[in-house]
Parts: sequence; structure tokens; C-alpha cells
Amino acid sequence: MTEADRPEVTAFVALGANLGDAAQALRDALVSLGAAPGVRVRKVSSLYRTAPVDSGGPDYMNAVAALATTLTAPALLACLQAIEQAAGRQRPYRNAPRTLDLDLLLYGSARVMSDTLTVPHPRMNERAFVLVPLAEIAP
Ligand code: AMP
Repeated sequence: MTEADRPEVTAFVALGANLGDAAQALRDALVSLGAAPGVRVRKVSSLYRTAPVDSGGPDYMNAVAALATTLTAPALLACLQAIEQAAGRQRPYRNAPRTLDLDLLLYGSARVMSDTLTVPHPRMNERAFVLVPLAEIAP
């Protein structure tokens, strides 16, 4: 099956940033997502300001987006990572402040557990900054 033949899957992505103009970083990321082949942005939550959890630095801006995608889950993760890289993300240490963090929360009803990808995202249920915007667009 070529990518164009694949059925569209609804996927939810969490966006977070806490360095520089974090709100602008999220808006730029949404534009990049919408421009990615095989990805359409269907719905975006409000932007939420949250205090850092397990990490330091300024407050975060968080949001959740619903996508319709013909990409496989690993291909979508690669797409998210490319957008993070383009936003200049560095990982000097675990949970360091970040210019942009994109997490794949849900990929249809799929369960994925590989070395590089776990879906549903293992920590999404613990995180108000994910659940609140997710509930806004997918109650
Ligand atoms: P983070 O530092 O939070 O951006 O974590 C990125 C790492 O988590 C990458 O090495 C990914 O391969 C891995 N990972 C596992 N599951 C997921 C997921 N559902 N969404 C994003 N990254 C994931």
C-alpha cells in the first residue's frame, strides 16, 4: 500500500515549549505540521500556560492538536522529531528546558510498544498539561 492509499488515522499530538517565545514556537510548529506531507491539522486546543513538572526554567506553553494523517505511527514520530530539530531543540540533559517538545499521545486506537515509540504515550494520564487541552478538543 502506498502512503496515499493508506486510510486517514486520527492522531493527537501534545505540543510544549518553555524557552524564548514559547507561544510562537507552538504556532510555528502547527504551521510545520500542517505543511508536512500526509498530515492535516484538524483541531487545536487553546494554549495553556503551566508551571514546569520535573524540570526547571520558565513556565511552559502547552497545547494539543488533533491530526488526520496517512503516515504510519513511526513515520509520524519521525515527522514530529524533524520539526523539533528544526526548532533548534537541544537535549543537554533529561527534562532540560526546551524550545519545542512534540509527543505523540494517541494514534487511532493503536497500541505501539517499540524501542523508540510507546503509544498511547505512557505519561499522558499523569499530566494535567496534556489532559486539559486534550479534553478541550476531544471530550
Ligand atoms: P522527549 O525527550 O520527551 O522528547 O522524548 C523523546 C524520546 O521518547 C524519543 O527518543 C522517542 O523515540 C521516545 N518516545 C517514545 N514514545 C514516544 C511518543 N509517544 N511520543 C514521542 N516520543 C516518544
